Amino acid sequence: MGLAHEAAERLEAFFRGFAGSTAPLLLLDYDGTLAPFRVDRFKAKPWAGVSELLNRIQGQTKTQMVFITGRPAAEILPLLGLDAPVEVWGLHGTERLYPDGSRELEPVPAAVRKVLDDLREQLNRDSFGGLFEDKDNAAVMHWRGVSAARAKQIEQRTRKLFEPLARLDGLVLLEFSAGLELRAGRDKGGAVEAILKEKGAIGPAAYLGDDFTDEAAFEALQGRGLSVLVRREWRETAADVWLRPPAELKKFLTQWLEACRMQGQSRLSSS
Ligand SMILES: [Mg+2]
Repeated sequence: MGLAHEAAERLEAFFRGFAGSTAPLLLLDYDGTLAPFRVDRFKAKPWAGVSELLNRIQGQTKTQMVFITGRPAAEILPLLGLDAPVEVWGLHGTERLYPDGSRELEPVPAAVRKVLDDLREQLNRDSFGGLFEDKDNAAVMHWRGVSAARAKQIEQRTRKLFEPLARLDGLVLLEFSAGLELRAGRDKGGAVEAILKEKGAIGPAAYLGDDFTDEAAFEALQGRGLSVLVRREWRETAADVWLRPPAELKKFLTQWLEACRMQGQSRLSSS
């Protein structure tokens, strides 16, 4: 009860901050945050009503909305189903896709690229019964949808392979729900830092995410915005508040819309 009350107060204070401010910044993870997980990730569509709310926020043209996903950036566009192009940071932040379609990729050092290439070759031959995903800057193993015993086996074999490599310069191990990623480059925390630096942390800012990989983003936003853990079950987190999807997520987006609408009105009435 205390927790829920505190969260409600925190949210209220956050949205009050929209009055008199400009260009609120809405940073959103995709999988698990806006869309429920699916074994086939190309079928992971947002919860009913979420795309509509995002479209309305975008249509207001007051919010700077940016998506930050672990996937290649372009993958989420057809799933999101938004009316206008948006900015997406992909591969946990090493890739940036602009609304005009241009794309930037953080360069991977040659030595690291060599390690990843060898790993690719090996996992393409044998992926331990898991799903191997080959990214520009990373090797990813997924075990969503398999039995618990099978998942444990895949995880053990993947760890044995990834963990020594993660000790090399320029490579880190990233744990996420039902998978492991060995990767190079900026993480979601680095992406949030870069976005705040570029867009200027002048107005209200929020980051919504569900996974361990979002914790770096929550930490990067500390003292500069509101971090929100979107998840059915609570877990230890650096986030300021916890929302259960989809109902509380939709309520948050509705409050965002309303706060932007009021923001316009207060500026009108004070001029
Ligand atoms: Mg996620």
